[in-house]
Amino acid sequence: MFKRFLFLTLMMLATCICEIAYASGIMISGAMDVETEYMINALQNRQEHRLGVWRFVTGEYQGCPMIISVTSVSQANAAASTALGIEKFQPIAIINQGTAGAHALEIHPFDIVIGTSACDFGAYKTDSKGNSTFRGVKVYDESSGDFIRVVDFQPDSQLLEIARKIAPTYKFGNVVEGKICTSGAWNKQKSRIKYFHKNFDTMCEEMETATVAQICYDYKIPFIGIRVISNNELTNEDFNPDTGEKCQQFALDVAKAYYESRNQ
Ligand code: SAH
Repeated sequence: MFKRFLFLTLMMLATCICEIAYASGIMISGAMDVETEYMINALQNRQEHRLGVWRFVTGEYQGCPMIISVTSVSQANAAASTALGIEKFQPIAIINQGTAGAHALEIHPFDIVIGTSACDFGAYKTDSKGNSTFRGVKVYDESSGDFIRVVDFQPDSQLLEIARKIAPTYKFGNVVEGKICTSGAWNKQKSRIKYFHKNFDTMCEEMETATVAQICYDYKIPFIGIRVISNNELTNEDFNPDTGEKCQQFALDVAKAYYESRNQ
């Protein structure tokens, strides 16, 4: 009887200690292994978690509590895993990062895009002639108690400021700022890429950022999207998976600086 009591008490204590380890942590998400493995390996005191079907790894990066969220590819996976991760780990901020295709001639694999906005590019309406307008996605607005439309999600100003400070330390390419556009599509048509860039000022395309931004908006969690260019159809540069690692290091640097700025 006593042994059983002792065992249960120790189990409860162990659970508490694990939860303390990721309390007030920063969640960094990425879809694929090439976008998350490097960060997972950089953590100390790693703990594996599975919420629903999605993998999370908690631990410390240079003394800062972090939660790495492996969302898998696509908007639905990004939304569900982000919401579950927020509910469980209560992160103080979320960085979504990973690979992206360039929408400008001047940016190349290994360049980084700091997202000064993120837009869901599936959320458009066409008129009968085929002209498109972006209508945004519906997010919860506390003041009206209703869902309202947001077209462009803005990053948290402090995370943006920190990303700008980290930018000059990045040695593998240029760091630019711009709009990240998210959809379920992988678009290789040059004329279409040029059309988006010219008319909607897009810098790159991928499949998760605006969705994670949307969930962060609902939960009022500071957010930023940071993407590394892995391919550029305009310059015939194919997907390079090695780019993923560089973006992860950049995101870890931003997360650490943010955490330290909050705990000075
Ligand atoms: N090597 C893989 C590519 C990944 S699938 C393959 O060909 O199957 C898509 C993932 O890469 C998404 O998570 C998305 O965020 C990112 N991505 C990188 N470049 C992209 C592009 N040009 N268009 C859309 N998504 C892109």
